[in-house]
Amino acid sequence: MNNAKNIKEVLSLLEVYYPHASTSLRYENVFQLLVAVMLSARSTDEQVNTVTPDLFACYGSTQEMAQASSEDIEKLIKRCGLAKSKSRNLVKVARVLVDFYDGQVPDNWEHLISLPGVGRKTANVLISTAFNKPAIAVDTHVYRVSKRLGWAVGNKTEEVEKELMQIIPRELWAPTHHRLIAHGRSLCYARRPRCKECFLHNLCSAEIS
Ligand code: SF4
Repeated sequence: MNNAKNIKEVLSLLEVYYPHASTSLRYENVFQLLVAVMLSARSTDEQVNTVTPDLFACYGSTQEMAQASSEDIEKLIKRCGLAKSKSRNLVKVARVLVDFYDGQVPDNWEHLISLPGVGRKTANVLISTAFNKPAIAVDTHVYRVSKRLGWAVGNKTEEVEKELMQIIPRELWAPTHHRLIAHGRSLCYARRPRCKECFLHNLCSAEIS
C-alpha cells in the first residue's frame, strides 16, 4: 500500500479536499505564533485561541513577555493546561530572545530548538508557517494519520518525521502537515475514525470500520 503511486494519489486527494488547510491558531506576529504553538502542547488550538487574546493584549511582544512574571502569565493561560511550566518557559524564551536575538524569533532550526521549552514540533511549525521553509511538524494528528495510511512505522515523532520527509516531496512538507491535521480533525479521528465516509479508504492501510 505504501508505494510511490499510492502516496502521490493520497497527496493529490488531500490537496483537493483541504486546499487551503492552515494553522487555526490566531496570532499577529512570529513571536505570538511561537507562544501559541508552545501553548498548544497537550491542549487544543481552540483552547489556545481562548486565552491568547487576553495574553497578547498584555504580553504580545518579546519585550513585554520578557518583563512579565511567570505567575501573571500562568493566571492568563491556566485553561491550556500545564500552565505552570508553560508560563515559566514563555518568560524564559522571551528573555533569551531579547538578550540574544535582538527580540526577534530566529528563522534557524538549530537556534529555535535551543530555546527553553521549544521541541521539534514547535520548531518545525515555526520554520514552515512563519518562515515558509520546508519542514514537517509531527503532532498527534500527523502521527496518527500517517501511521494509519501506512506512511510511517516509527513509534517516536522524530522517527515519523524522518519517514515522512523521505516519502513526501520537499515542497509539500508544510502543506501536507496542515492537510493531515485537517484530515485527522474532520474524518480520521483518534477514536472511531469515519472510514466509510473517508475519501482515502481505498488507499489506506488501516481502514478501521
Ligand atoms: S480510511 Fe479510516 S483510518 Fe484510513 S485515513 Fe480514512 S479515516 Fe483514517
